[in-house]
Amino acid sequence: MSTSPAFIPFTRPSFNQETIDAVAEVLRSGWVTSGPKLAEFEATLSEYFGGRPVRCFANGTATMKIALQVAGIGVGDEVITTPISWVATSNVVLSVGAKPVFIDIDPHTRNIDLNKVAAAITPKTRAIMPVYLAGLPVNMDQLYSIAKQHNLRVIEDAAQAFGSQWQGKKIGSFGDLVSFSFQANKNLTTVEGGCLVFNNDDEAKLAEKFRLQGLTRQGMDGMDVDVLGGKDNLTDVNAVIGLQQLKQLPAYQARRAALARQYFDAIRAELKSAGLETLKIELPVENFTESNWHMFQVVLPLDELNVDRAQVMTELKELGIGTGVHYPAITSFTLYKELGYKTSDTPNAQRIGRSILTLPLFPGMADADITRIASELVGILKKHRKN
Ligand SMILES: *Cc1c(COP(=O)(O)O)cnc(C)c1O
Repeated sequence: MSTSPAFIPFTRPSFNQETIDAVAEVLRSGWVTSGPKLAEFEATLSEYFGGRPVRCFANGTATMKIALQVAGIGVGDEVITTPISWVATSNVVLSVGAKPVFIDIDPHTRNIDLNKVAAAITPKTRAIMPVYLAGLPVNMDQLYSIAKQHNLRVIEDAAQAFGSQWQGKKIGSFGDLVSFSFQANKNLTTVEGGCLVFNNDDEAKLAEKFRLQGLTRQGMDGMDVDVLGGKDNLTDVNAVIGLQQLKQLPAYQARRAALARQYFDAIRAELKSAGLETLKIELPVENFTESNWHMFQVVLPLDELNVDRAQVMTELKELGIGTGVHYPAITSFTLYKELGYKTSDTPNAQRIGRSILTLPLFPGMADADITRIASELVGILKKHRKN
C-alpha cells in the first residue's frame, strides 16, 4: 500500500491548548462580546507598539475604513495606493467616497514605487496608503518625507506586517495611522479582527465612536450620537485569542524566517541541479531583519514557459501542494475597469499580478516540506520550459 504525502495548504493558523482553554474560559464567563479581554488586548498591543494608542476592530477592512474616516477623507479626495494588494485596500477608499490613485510597483520589492508618488500628487490628494506585501516594509524614511513635504496623511495598510520592522523599530511603533489585520491567514490572528495604532488620544476616541454607532456615553445613563458610526467592535472571544497569539509570536516569527531561508537554499539548489540557473524565476527580497515573512512568493518566468500560472498551480495541487495568488492587479477587476482604471497604466503590477505565486509558509511546516515543494516546483518548470 502506498501513501501519498499529506496535502500542504499555502497557510494554516496554529492555536495551542492554552488558547483553546482561554476561549472556553471567556465563553463560560458570562461576558463574550467587547469587554475586559478586549481592554487587556488593546493595552497589551499599546505596550507592544511603544505606548501609542491602539484600538481593535472586527476586521482589517473596518480598521482601514475607520482610519480614513478619522483622517476625514471622503468625497472629492484622492488616496495614493498600490494595485498589488488585497482589494480591501482600495475598496475602503471607494466606500468612503474617495478616489484610489494607483501607482506602479517596484518589481523587486513588489511594493508601491515611492519614486513615482510625487508625480501623482494633485490638489485633491489627501493621503498615501502603502501596503507591505508579504510583510516587507517600504522605505519608511522616504514615505514620511514625501508625506511631510506634501502635507499628506499616511494610512499604512500594515495588514500583513505585524512583527515587521524598519531599521530596528517595529512597524506600528512610529508613523501616522497604522492598520493591521488579524484575519486567520495573518501572522497574528484573532480569527477575524484588526487594530489601528494612533498618534494621539483624540483620534483614538473618534475611532471608538465610528466603531460603535457614533455613540458616546456620559454618567450612568447619558448617551449621545454626533457622528455616523457602524458596528465594528472586536469581541472578547477574539481578543483572548490575540492575547495568546502574542505570546507565541516570537517562536512563530523565528520559524517563518528559518523556513524562508530554507526556501532560498532549496530553490537555488534545485535550479542548479536541473541546469536551470538562467531561468528568470524571481525570488523575494532576502530581508531577514525587517520582513516578518508573512508569505514566500515567487514570480514565475511565464515568458519562458509554455503553460500559464493556473497550470503550474494545478500540477502542484495534484502533487499535494497548495498555492495562492496574492494578488492580481486590483485594476484588472471589473468594478475597477468600469471606473476607468487600466492595468496597462501600471505595467510592473500587470506582469507581476499575472505571474506571482504564493508557496506554502506557516509555522507548522516541516523542513522536509520545503525540500519537497522546491523540488516539485522546479520539476514542473523544467517540464514546461520552452525550447
Ligand atoms: C488581510 C488584508 C486586508 C484586510 O483585512 P481583513 O481582516 O481580511 O478585513 C487588507 N489589506 C491587506 C494587504 C491584507 O492582506
